[in-house]
Amino acid sequence: MAGAYLAAAGINLDEEMSKIQFGASPPPQQSSSLLDAPHASPSSSTPRAPLSRALTKVLGVRLPRKPPKTFWDVSISEGMIESITPHSPAARLGLRPNSSVLDAHEALLAPSLCHAHIHLDKAFLLSDPKFSDLEVTDGSFEEAMTLTTAAKERFDEEDLLRRGRALVSESLAFGVTAMRAFVEVDGTVGMKDLDAGLKLKAEFEGRCEIQIIAFAQLALFSGSDGGNEVRRLMGEAAGREGVDGVGSTPYVEEDGEREGANLRWISDLAVEHGKMLDLHMDYHVDVEKQPLVWDALEVLREADWDGRRGKGVCMGHCTRLTLFVESEWTRLREEIGSMPVSFVGLPTSDLYMMRTEDGRRGTLNVPDMIEKYGLQAAVAVNNVGNAFTPQGSSDPLSVASLGVGLYQAGTKKDADVLYECVSSRAKEIIGLAHSSLDLNPGEPADFVLYEREEVAWRTKKSIAEVVYDPTSRRRTIKSGRLVA
Ligand SMILES: [Zn+2]
Repeated sequence: MAGAYLAAAGINLDEEMSKIQFGASPPPQQSSSLLDAPHASPSSSTPRAPLSRALTKVLGVRLPRKPPKTFWDVSISEGMIESITPHSPAARLGLRPNSSVLDAHEALLAPSLCHAHIHLDKAFLLSDPKFSDLEVTDGSFEEAMTLTTAAKERFDEEDLLRRGRALVSESLAFGVTAMRAFVEVDGTVGMKDLDAGLKLKAEFEGRCEIQIIAFAQLALFSGSDGGNEVRRLMGEAAGREGVDGVGSTPYVEEDGEREGANLRWISDLAVEHGKMLDLHMDYHVDVEKQPLVWDALEVLREADWDGRRGKGVCMGHCTRLTLFVESEWTRLREEIGSMPVSFVGLPTSDLYMMRTEDGRRGTLNVPDMIEKYGLQAAVAVNNVGNAFTPQGSSDPLSVASLGVGLYQAGTKKDADVLYECVSSRAKEIIGLAHSSLDLNPGEPADFVLYEREEVAWRTKKSIAEVVYDPTSRRRTIKSGRLVA
């Protein structure tokens, strides 16, 4: 059905799919000025897949911020939006199949999606046959740590690439053109996860921008060797070409003093190597326990992160902040001041794993943080298919959609904010150029096209419809190229 529809739209599905095969796929036989010649990436032995069809125009689209029932033609030049003009039906005449002009048949065109926070190396452990003996039997956080540690002991390049490639290609099909991917670095996995992450980054270059964060999930100052090995390996990882940032989890340290040392060390490491910083912290809902965010902001101030333009700091999880009273939110806004600090809420994981002793759940109210307190924040998928988060897919829109219920955010304006949280805000937080819901000329031509449904009136006409009920009928455009 999709093939028939695409054929009507001038797209040969088989041919398109053959152009977006991964890794070892043969180069296309036909010579076409629209196709890049395949070539090996300089930073990896993995052959880079040929990029697919370059577009100069997308005809007859609905746009998020334009009046309903109006249609537009979007012109693309050098990977950017060149102009947006009212749709001219005459432009459809004489369209050749696979030309650089795509007829969208009144589908909604919106900015592409982004994972602001995803664990690339731990994805799909519950479905990969290699790890089929590691089942969830009690569903606790401790069990998740034990199962994941057992899995990590068996990681090798083959399964890391297999699982990572599945995650990125599924994400790409969902409309994701950028992601911040965490790969762990410690004595158990050494540099294996990082090496695989860097290979995938090269393999998907041009289709999905994969930002690699070398990540210390284990303690930097606790444990039998006082964290020496993890610090040594993280120091080495931070200097590797292709690594975009570093991150840590202060909450795994044995006491408050070591938590502080963790924060200072990882911040210094990021500054020393000119990298971005990502802190996974305050991951509890215990009102008796002081939030670490105040110490973290102190460390960032002392290290002059305010002056490090273009190198931001993300704080992920932060479920402890859900217990903040009004004055603490105000204090947070004030203490951040002009520092490039933002937050990422991970509701799918928090709903599964995070609750008080009397069973109350906690996950950051991201829309409130944005609208009420003027903070910069996004929501993200976090873990996919492992013991930390067994449920859900890698679709960022599923998290935005969950947000409608979670935050009682049902208005059109709410839907726009939730969409931004998995699109423009997510990209901004991780330091990437992004197109807004306005889709202005000069912004990157990174889009999702929400295609026509078989029942025509069910075709998504607005961002609210997409967020309420995400469709799987999507096409992904990155820098003006049809990539999925
Ligand atoms: Zn995480």
